[in-house]
Amino acid sequence: MCGIVGYTGPNPALSRVIEGLRRLEYRGYDSAGVALATKVGEKLVVEKKAGKLANLEGTLTSDYSNAHGGIGHTRWATHGGPTDVNAHPHLDESGKLAVIHNGIIENYIELKEELERRGHKFKSETDTESVAHLLSEEFKISGDLATAMRSVCSRLRGSFTLLAIHSDRPDLIVGARRNSPLVVGVGTGENFLASDVSAFISHTKRALELGQDQVVQVTPEKVVVTDLSGAAITPKEYEITWDAKAAERGGFKHFMLKEIFEQPKAVADTLLGRFPSSDSIELKELENLALDCNRILILACGTAYHAGLIGKYAIEEWVQIPVDVELASEFRYRKPVLTSKTLVITISQSGETMDTLMALRHAESLGAQTLSICNTIGSTIPRESDAVLYTHAGPEIAVASTKALLTQVVVLHLVALYIANRSGSLSKSRIKELISELLELPNKIEEILETVEPLREMTRGYKDSNSVLFLGRHVGFPAALEGALKLKELAYMHAEGFAGGELKHGPIALIDKGTPVIAILPPASSEIAEKMRSNIQEVRARGANVIAIADPSHNLDIPNLIRIPECEELLQPLLSIVPLQVFAYEMAVARGNDVDQPRNLAKSVTVE
Ligand code: GLU
Repeated sequence: MCGIVGYTGPNPALSRVIEGLRRLEYRGYDSAGVALATKVGEKLVVEKKAGKLANLEGTLTSDYSNAHGGIGHTRWATHGGPTDVNAHPHLDESGKLAVIHNGIIENYIELKEELERRGHKFKSETDTESVAHLLSEEFKISGDLATAMRSVCSRLRGSFTLLAIHSDRPDLIVGARRNSPLVVGVGTGENFLASDVSAFISHTKRALELGQDQVVQVTPEKVVVTDLSGAAITPKEYEITWDAKAAERGGFKHFMLKEIFEQPKAVADTLLGRFPSSDSIELKELENLALDCNRILILACGTAYHAGLIGKYAIEEWVQIPVDVELASEFRYRKPVLTSKTLVITISQSGETMDTLMALRHAESLGAQTLSICNTIGSTIPRESDAVLYTHAGPEIAVASTKALLTQVVVLHLVALYIANRSGSLSKSRIKELISELLELPNKIEEILETVEPLREMTRGYKDSNSVLFLGRHVGFPAALEGALKLKELAYMHAEGFAGGELKHGPIALIDKGTPVIAILPPASSEIAEKMRSNIQEVRARGANVIAIADPSHNLDIPNLIRIPECEELLQPLLSIVPLQVFAYEMAVARGNDVDQPRNLAKSVTVE
């Protein structure tokens, strides 16, 4: 969480840093702040303000065009409320050294007590401020910011991306990372440091990956990376394939709406090049995995967890291997039984989700093989996995995930087909059929989006509801969970997803006159179709206001009917979830909520 930007080069640092922060604001928006080195050896200029970046911009009285080195931060508060004082950057007592931080310093209390004993005065309630004072002490000893950073990092526990600047060397930014993202943007005569590449893609497409416990020194002409002992490291360079436009709203009112409408392309891009013929699947990335696994375990959080739940049905049916799906945050503190024949699949859009990263490490320590599904090239989770399959969703900026989910599900389907093809668990003709179903998805999603207006209008009619329930069976059940999660995230409403069969075991007591219930129907040919139709009758009999999502194979007498195209039952969530996303989006707009930056949330959850 939180957005971090550092800039050094011939251009005014403030505008470069603010531009980067704007692109990263989806990562945290409790406060924003910058530190600029305007004059050698003098106090840094620090401007910081609680609230969104716009608040900070509104208070800036100068463009500080004489500052060519600077750092900036948007915060997602963990320690101390979202106030001006707790906003980053934090300074040492000289006012010449500033630091910004993403993550949590777990041993900050002991460090703070130690620093206070030595006479340091703390201004904020953050865990971060101890780093500023520690760096200051170490800088006094060595006179070198990178050396100071290395020794401070060896004393820290927890997760961090840190950037520091000192006015004695205004053109130098020093960064460090552990369990939290940091990338270098290599420009011409200027360099950047940032939480992710979107901060600098309009200036350079060249990026460097930084590994765990590495310290980086950046000046306009040079990037030097070392480990914590000071040994030099050659970082891996890669080219960013997204263009700057992809990270902009492009005429849509919100990023989320734009990303919902990008789903046909995202799914098509994720499928691209995967089928050398009409009945074969190519996943070169899996060639080094021993795919003789006897169990698959999927670990993820939030929406990615729902992707895993949806994928489980297809993998078990097509590959005939048991699949478990578990919340990463729960898995990592258990003593599960894994073997080298367990394939662990982690799913994370950002590749930096802390709970998933820790679960991955736990799984690796227990001897499992690991495959990650990720949307962000060069991020930590894929780097630490035995193999990676990238989704090609493009940058996802809205905090509520949409296109990432669809592409994650598609990749799980590809994995299932790939293994089924190798093991022979599916016939060639069935594989051919499924490939053609997958390839039709982008057009079908497009079709839903082209006819979405009546749904948007209908949704506004529900804006004063207290609670919305979602019902589904089989793959429709995780789709219902996802529909409920989207609504919670965006509309701040009580929403729950239930398996249709569970209704009578408790949840039906929630149904009252007028309770909105969104029911997802499988194709009429499914063995559970009749059961879902009965569930609809049961809730209607108790006064529920049912909205049904169904394909044309159903002849339904329900006033609020949302049609989706027909498709293979196991793939249906890739269609049925789209109207659920639109429902949550429209509800949030109708309730006056900030769709792209919902309260209390941030994208890329890099703290536990
Ligand atoms: N733990 C720090 C704070 O609460 C950093 C939070 C962040 O990542 O934005 O200030």
